[in-house]
Amino acid sequence: MVATPAWPPQSTPRLFVEQRLGEGEALRIDGGQAHYLISVMRLKAGDPVKLFDDQTGEWLAEVGAMGKRDLILDVRAQLRPREDVPDLWLLAAPIKKARMDVLVEKACELGAARYQPVLTRRTIVDRLNLDRLRTQMIEAAEQCGRTALPEIFEAIKLPALLKSWPSERTLFFADEQGGQPFADAIADLPGPAAILIGPEGGFDYEERGLVRALPQAVGVSLGPRILRAETAAIAALSVWMAQAGDWAAAT
Ligand code: SAH
Repeated sequence: MVATPAWPPQSTPRLFVEQRLGEGEALRIDGGQAHYLISVMRLKAGDPVKLFDDQTGEWLAEVGAMGKRDLILDVRAQLRPREDVPDLWLLAAPIKKARMDVLVEKACELGAARYQPVLTRRTIVDRLNLDRLRTQMIEAAEQCGRTALPEIFEAIKLPALLKSWPSERTLFFADEQGGQPFADAIADLPGPAAILIGPEGGFDYEERGLVRALPQAVGVSLGPRILRAETAAIAALSVWMAQAGDWAAAT
């Protein structure tokens, strides 16, 4: 089985695996992934599966020996190398669960390199299940064709984040009280960037001052309407990707 433009078919299942992939490797798959391939997708020996490992890119594999609850995938050929991820971080305060799920899923689909939860004074969510968020991102990556997972970090308090801010990275601070139009700000500063989005209640007065005092920070506006936090994140990621990310080069 050789990879060609017509092979593997569009409908081929695509999975993230922790193991490093390489030609000739045989992977034993069990648990939820095996259930998905065997019972949901009803794969048979010889069927194709696409795999990626966040290290070596995407590979074409073929179903080998099958049990009731596990199966072997034989790795045949590399389909794509690991992509270069545009250098954009999303820094957003945790929000309520259902909206948080939307936020991390969309951040992954839109191509963010990293999600860093930031704790602010008005953040109302105090427990964040990073494993769960990581699972959401993996599912989004499987579905949207990413070959690199977004990094996800433990939550950090806003003052600590600002204190250790890297000198060469622009911090675009989404401020619903006004700022430079975001697209114009990106045109002036197209390099490594991060977008900071507040929680449901926004930033308080002091926090706004703290952020604006950082030399790398640029206050930006996402238009005249007040957006929900997850909408603001999605809108900002999209505008940045179109201006400075990989949308222009996409075919
Ligand atoms: N404090 C607001 C709501 C905050 S909206 C209120 O209740 O009136 C949540 C976050 O989304 C904000 O902190 C900001 O980072 C971002 N945001 C929402 N609308 C925005 C806009 N028009 N321009 C820039 N950022 C916006």
